[in-house]
Amino acid sequence: MYKIILFLRRILCTIGYHRYIVAQELTNRSRRIACPYCHKSWGMNDDVRAVIPWDYELADLYNNMLGIELKYLPWEQSQPPIKTVKRQFND
Ligand SMILES: [Zn+2]
Repeated sequence: MYKIILFLRRILCTIGYHRYIVAQELTNRSRRIACPYCHKSWGMNDDVRAVIPWDYELADLYNNMLGIELKYLPWEQSQPPIKTVKRQFND
């Protein structure tokens, strides 16, 4: 039964009906939200009223530029979380 529910949840995720939970409060005006079923995460900012997919650039912005330590929830570790990359000034 649990597998059927999980399967249905995955279908809902595929069509965009995620279950959003707050994964980490980044600042008092922004946070990272995630879906425990598909393990996707997004950055949410109150000032610009935007929710955008969590990617390397967003992780780099919060970690390297704003100095916020990113923490991933245990279930997010079951697939590789997005790691920040050191800035390279080769070009
Ligand atoms: Zn989802």
